[in-house]
Amino acid sequence: MQITMKKILAAILIFDISAGLLLFVAYGNKLLEKGRQEERSQEQSRAVWAVKEAGDADSVIAESTDYKKIALTFDDGPHPYYTEQLLDGLKERGVVATFFVTGEHTVLHPDVIKRMHEEGHLIGNHTYSHMQLTNGNKEEFKEELIATSEVIEEIINEEVIYVRPPYGTWDKSFEGELNMIPVLWSVDPLDWCTDNAATVVEKVIGQVEENDIILMHDYYASTVTAALEIVDELQGQGYTFVTVEEILFD
Ligand SMILES: [Zn+2]
Repeated sequence: MQITMKKILAAILIFDISAGLLLFVAYGNKLLEKGRQEERSQEQSRAVWAVKEAGDADSVIAESTDYKKIALTFDDGPHPYYTEQLLDGLKERGVVATFFVTGEHTVLHPDVIKRMHEEGHLIGNHTYSHMQLTNGNKEEFKEELIATSEVIEEIINEEVIYVRPPYGTWDKSFEGELNMIPVLWSVDPLDWCTDNAATVVEKVIGQVEENDIILMHDYYASTVTAALEIVDELQGQGYTFVTVEEILFD
């Protein structure tokens, strides 16, 4: 009887152990499976996040093309001192501008032209000697444009396409003949008429709108002061400074 009980107890014990083992193995497998599932779901959620992030990035890009654009343009330079000062200020603020330079100032300060180009500014043609187009000097004017583009292109190794004709006088036939695009302006604070930077700032801020092209001259200390104040003020208002190319073609 005792033996029988012992056998039964032993049998139960063995059964328990083996059942336990089976359960343990099954549970272990389950755990493993669970782990794999979690891994898979983590991978899936990572994939979802990656898509979501990519989607977010897309929407950021889409939004970023929707910003308020504005362009600063500077004529008559480069000036050996004021242009460098202006470039320093623009660089500090992460701002690009467009410089319409004359051929005669370009050959005097090629290093400044090189710096403009390296820092992402757009360089355009403003004739060789700041010539005003008249009925009588069409050929001469054309030659000045060609000579100016040549000296700039030699420095920056890039084709010059944009031109700001001095005093805004232009002949449309040049556009096809020379493959050039004239760029006028929409805001003129007459910065060359005053040495009072605050007056210039006031004039620009008072009338500026999205997609405006502001005309200034990097040839005066007051213009440098005014231009940088304009940048600070308009950046504060949510404007982004771009080159004229982005205003004309985006
Ligand atoms: Zn000019």
